[in-house]
Amino acid sequence: MLSFQDVCKRYPDGTTAVDQLSLDISHGELVALIGPSGCGKSTTLRMVNRLVEPSSGTILVDGRDNRAYHPVELRRRLGYVIQQVGLMPHLTIAENIAFVLRLQGVAPKQRRRRAEELMHLVGLDPGLYLDRYPRELSGGQQQRIGVLRALAHDPDIILMDEPFGALDPLIREQLQDELKRLQKTVHKTILFVTHDMDEALRIADRIVLMRDGRIVQAAEPEQMLRAP
Ligand code: ADP
Ligand code: ADP
Repeated sequence: MLSFQDVCKRYPDGTTAVDQLSLDISHGELVALIGPSGCGKSTTLRMVNRLVEPSSGTILVDGRDNRAYHPVELRRRLGYVIQQVGLMPHLTIAENIAFVLRLQGVAPKQRRRRAEELMHLVGLDPGLYLDRYPRELSGGQQQRIGVLRALAHDPDIILMDEPFGALDPLIREQLQDELKRLQKTVHKTILFVTHDMDEALRIADRIVLMRDGRIVQAAEPEQMLRAP
């Protein structure tokens, strides 16, 4: 579903952020990309949606070079969630969730229905939240809405860059469990960047450890726990 083939990224200032990275992620798999700050995790993620262009190598999205997609088509296939979730303050929760659908020309009634459906999926009461504004929600609730927004247009692949990094530990664990359940329900392929091993162990099907732009280990959580 998502494949990195010998991907390198060297920034113009000479920093090698990603160095000959190869990785295959299957449909419905949740892979946690973990490693110390500056090891190249975000760069790896951002090369998928082409916020960053690789210096060499190829990234396949559903078997096709991501550079061969029209940008709109690529965006349709990808969801993206970052730590600064950036809900639009002047739009309601419903409008925020359905934002991409509006860009795609989906009619208001259908957008509303989709927003309701997504709220049910994570156990939030649509009647209670859909017409509120982001500032009326807690940080954890806003982050949850950010995840729903990334799901609204039904992308195949979700890219998540430390999405729960700014939250209290308790809320964080709730959202981790929720994401895991969501992934099982909607069968999305997820590439999840974190620097927190507990988080990776909790949610991932596979943990990929990065250091200095390279993959140094890849294993299932159970194997990671057994490793010396
Ligand atoms: P991580 O997400 O693991 O913290 P990043 O991918 O953000 O790592 O960064 C990897 C390396 O690339 C770091 O040394 C970082 O300083 C450098 N880097 C990231 N973005 C840029 C940029 N736009 N220009 C130059 N260097 C960058
Ligand atoms: P905002 O202005 O609130 O940040 P955007 O228009 O940037 O809203 O993003 C809204 C949604 O569009 C995101 O949650 C994500 O699902 C999708 N999206 C935005 N940028 C990208 C991208 N580069 N790649 C994939 N999806 C994206």
